[in-house]
Amino acid sequence: TEASLAAVAASKPLNAFVHDTSEIARSQAKAADARIQAGDAPDMCGLPIGMKDLFCTKGVATQAASAILDGFKPEYESTVSQKLFDAGAVMVGKLNMDEFAMGSSNETSVYGNAVNPWKVDEHDLTPGGSSGGSAAAVAAETCLAATGTDTGGSIRQPAAFTGITGIKPTYGRCSRWGIVAFASSLDQAGPITKDVRDAAIMLEAMCGFDAKDSTSMNLPVPNFEAALTGDIRGKTIGIPKEYRVEGMPEALETLWSEGRQMLRDAGAIVKDISLPHTKYALPAYYVIAPAEASSNLARYDGVRFGHRAKLEAGDGITEMYEKTRAEGFGAEVQRRVMVGTYVLSAGFYDAYYNRARRVRALIKKDFDDVFATGVDAILTPSTPSAAFGLGEMADADPVQMYLFDVFTVTVNLAGLPGISVPAGLDSKGLPLGLQLIGRPWEEGDLLNTAFALE
Ligand code: GLN
Repeated sequence: TEASLAAVAASKPLNAFVHDTSEIARSQAKAADARIQAGDAPDMCGLPIGMKDLFCTKGVATQAASAILDGFKPEYESTVSQKLFDAGAVMVGKLNMDEFAMGSSNETSVYGNAVNPWKVDEHDLTPGGSSGGSAAAVAAETCLAATGTDTGGSIRQPAAFTGITGIKPTYGRCSRWGIVAFASSLDQAGPITKDVRDAAIMLEAMCGFDAKDSTSMNLPVPNFEAALTGDIRGKTIGIPKEYRVEGMPEALETLWSEGRQMLRDAGAIVKDISLPHTKYALPAYYVIAPAEASSNLARYDGVRFGHRAKLEAGDGITEMYEKTRAEGFGAEVQRRVMVGTYVLSAGFYDAYYNRARRVRALIKKDFDDVFATGVDAILTPSTPSAAFGLGEMADADPVQMYLFDVFTVTVNLAGLPGISVPAGLDSKGLPLGLQLIGRPWEEGDLLNTAFALE
């Protein structure tokens, strides 16, 4: 714990940690020592981890990287962070992220962006988003692992951009209770770790049924680490032709085909498949996610928690809402609230929101159809390219940034588990990731296939 806290302090230039929890870490470490001495050490006993600022932590600042939650200290602990503490984990700090988890570069954070520990010619790169702080912290070895959340790729994309591992489990595996909501039908928590074995251990500690989340699945939690046999003989791996997009760097093509060969060498059957509705996934996601966000973010009204704007004489409740929300939400969050409100409005509900929901059902059916033919997992790149430069997208149309989520959002729309593992380096020497998508509730199998790619 002391070594990790020292590394956290030394990592200031990365701006990965945003709230100090060293007091808590030291007391958790003492408790872990006592458990070890008593011969009662659980799986993560004494292991230093970072916590994304989206998880409510009792008595500890939880801001979702937003000005609107300035000063908010939850009265309760999220189910996932509580489970990690029960498993012995030590929280060494809270981690930077995009505001309300909306973004792909960590640049929408009220704390300013986190920085990728990987560099090209000393030029600062994004660690990805929204769990950019989590990925930067783990890649820089300040802590052993970190929590992330993934609504459209926010665990897998930052893991890929920083050369580490991240898994989003099946929707319903981890309780969402106490995680600040972005888009409730898509949000899932998961671990960001150095390798697949760590991911298996940490995921097992995080997940399980929780009566406090109505979408939590009541299924036993398997021993994920025991699933890592490395034996994938006879498994069928699908390669979807729709994920071969124009402008993909040659290095990514090469690493993808090397990945196919590694799985074949390990005894898997690799075959081409089609997921025909893939091209509609991004537009459907960027209707559904803002729609749900606009509804979830209605609670930040200046009354219940966080920031309230200074009012002038004569201001009524409407002015209070307007001024508080205009000051408290950043530009990207405001954009999502406006888009979401628009697609849910009476005149446009059918044309946008309902249509996106129908597209979502078709995307899910594409996966169901492929799994019904005996495919066990699907191999794709995690992102269309390596990490881009910080500030590079600042003046671009926001849609340019949305395009980075092209390979990850399908998995959330279908509720499936997906993992990103490091695949190798691009021509500039930056890490690239490969994604494996699995059958629902079969994270053990998925982790084992990813293990064969390591
Ligand atoms: N980049 C995507 C978005 O901005 C996904 C974010 C996430 O998974 N939280 O919505």
